[in-house]
Amino acid sequence: MRNQGLGSWPARRARRTPHRTALVQDDGGAPLTYDALHRRTVRLAHALRARGVRHGDRIAYLGPNHHTFLETLFAAGTLGAVFVPLNTRLTAAELGLQLRDCGPRVLVHAPSQRRPVAALPPQARPAVVLETGPHYESRLAEAVDDPLDEPVRPDDLCLIMYTSGTTGRPKGAMLTHANLTWNAVNVLIDHDLLATERALVTAPLFHAAGLGMITLPVLLKGATCVLAASFDPGRTLETIARHRITFMFGVPTMYELMCRHPAWQTADLSTLRLLTCGGAPVPARLVRACRERGLTLRQGYGMTEAGPGVLFPAAGHAATGEGSAGVPHFFTDVKVVRADLTEAAPGETGEILVRGPHVGPGYWGLPDATADAFTDGWLRTGDAARADPDGHLVIAGRIKDIYISGGENVCPAEVEEALLDHPDIADCAVIGVPDETWGETGLALVVPRPGAALDPERIPPFLARTLARYKIPRSVLVVDELPRTASGKLLKNRLRARYAPAAAPDPPRP
Ligand code: ATP
Ligand code: MG
Repeated sequence: MRNQGLGSWPARRARRTPHRTALVQDDGGAPLTYDALHRRTVRLAHALRARGVRHGDRIAYLGPNHHTFLETLFAAGTLGAVFVPLNTRLTAAELGLQLRDCGPRVLVHAPSQRRPVAALPPQARPAVVLETGPHYESRLAEAVDDPLDEPVRPDDLCLIMYTSGTTGRPKGAMLTHANLTWNAVNVLIDHDLLATERALVTAPLFHAAGLGMITLPVLLKGATCVLAASFDPGRTLETIARHRITFMFGVPTMYELMCRHPAWQTADLSTLRLLTCGGAPVPARLVRACRERGLTLRQGYGMTEAGPGVLFPAAGHAATGEGSAGVPHFFTDVKVVRADLTEAAPGETGEILVRGPHVGPGYWGLPDATADAFTDGWLRTGDAARADPDGHLVIAGRIKDIYISGGENVCPAEVEEALLDHPDIADCAVIGVPDETWGETGLALVVPRPGAALDPERIPPFLARTLARYKIPRSVLVVDELPRTASGKLLKNRLRARYAPAAAPDPPRP
């Protein structure tokens, strides 16, 4: 085949395993075999080409998890076009910014997204807008289905995926066909994925983890993905039993909600053999709650720019499953460095740098941000970590969140982890605030569990049982909720703007 990219995957799969089920929607609808996925991809590619799409053009998709998302990705790849998934939780104005940034020729959207699409600023509206649904299906049925084999090289751009926007405006991370393929290979190897896998994709496909940590590796292997359009803890537990799910990826918030659901104790989870989690700190109590239910929750670490997988626990290490995000994936190199980029000693906290064939070439249209983050073949993650005695890396949070109290670096992630062990605390955040004596001190914002009477005065003595004195926040505020992204990441910028407006925007790196 002349197509060496993702666009050829359905054809290659249809050649080997045409009758296996590729995709199923969790709420019904006919399952798609690999052969059907291939045929639909070819027809869509022809339809897109007839609308003027050429090599290098961008094609955006806006919608929840659905087979049309993946068909659009593969059809774009068939033509050498670049797929741009958009976040369904953004406003029309935010979507408009991303569309103007990447300038797609076509926007494919789900019927549920009609309203934001209608509200797009006119300058942001792509020339061709296609809504999926009955009309789209009849046009697809009329499209040509002659074989299509355009030349696409592994290093051609495949995807522009916007980062989550946790620390600022989302950046368009570029990923090539090779990047996504190597990431999928890493996951296949390190998760020991089988062709018999039935994977539940409930994390959004428009974020790097939903696509790269579960869906693409499973499709490369020729196994089955069950797609869920939205997340609901009770429905997820039901789906696991009904579809006899073997593998699921979720962000910590999803698992927290599942563990608290009344059906958690009774649902049939006996088929689950691989439960993975990442994207945000994974509280130890969550790992324990899963273990009590006979399940091993394995924490990984990654970022959109890396395709996204970086760290995953080595086989056998998951016995405890707490704290560490693991060792580098098979084809990944990682180092932990000090501010001057010299390597940190074992146990010393520094910035994680990543290198590997899955790390993308940079940010779309942002040469300065690209030069800052992609240096000498290494990706600067902006995250802090330290190696534990057996070489597994423990993530200490974002470097920009670290504050210095009396000359000592404090990693808020460690304090938050200790706070979450308090039985009455449901959620928490720790930030550094200016302090005349100590330079900075910690402020803990805590959300009580429903019905719990939380006395802020009792929190510091509770923390003193496990944390050194300088790490204990000087003030504790009880709040109703904390600002988080839809995928559960804490928006610390907002907390700092509100509670520490005078704090330096960029404290020194460790
Ligand atoms: P933006 O780059 O736009 O500010 P973002 O960094 O949240 O947003 P993503 O690429 O979706 O966008 O997320 C990657 C980040 O998520 C990592 O840099 C890290 O801070 C965090 N993260 C991922 N996995 C873990 C984990 N296991 N533990 C702690 N943090 C994690
Ligand atoms: Mg980031």
